[in-house]
Amino acid sequence: MFIAAAAVITLVAGDFASTFFYHVPQHVWFTLHLRTHHDRRRSYWDHAVLTSDPSVLLDGILGALPYVLVAALVWRLSWEGTLLGLAIGQVHVWWRHTTELGWKSPAWVRAALRPLWVVLPEDHDGHHRNPDIEFGDIFRFYDAPARALLAILAPTSRRTRNAAGRGRPGRTPARA
Ligand SMILES: [Zn+2]
Ligand SMILES: [Zn+2]
Repeated sequence: MFIAAAAVITLVAGDFASTFFYHVPQHVWFTLHLRTHHDRRRSYWDHAVLTSDPSVLLDGILGALPYVLVAALVWRLSWEGTLLGLAIGQVHVWWRHTTELGWKSPAWVRAALRPLWVVLPEDHDGHHRNPDIEFGDIFRFYDAPARALLAILAPTSRRTRNAAGRGRPGRTPARA
């Protein structure tokens, strides 16, 4: 019981922390994540799973850090469950980047995971294609609040400042 609870808390709270304290701020104010995770010129299977490029690894490590901090808090509830949660989180990273390999989620996987709001590879592929949608690493219920936060922070974003600095509205080419 405690094992399952610790695993679920690690994933739900870890995804919350990573989405709102790392992923959204990266999209608004920084370039590391956009340069690495949203570079459509390179294979993101390669990026997410196989790479040894230091900046890509740094993005991965910073994105994983909130999960580790949550894990440290949940540890005393059940260390087995905490490790299980982190392991499931890692496997989910690999799995959600399999769309590029041509994998499609079978109907039964969809049917099983949709009610749990779990991000499918097809969902995460949407985030790679359009950085403004499909937030939440593991759970889709973080997408709407993440977009709301993005909208609130938009006036302070790098994009807005860049566009204003050049005296023209619209988006910078940084998202290519
Ligand atoms: Zn990704
Ligand atoms: Zn992103």
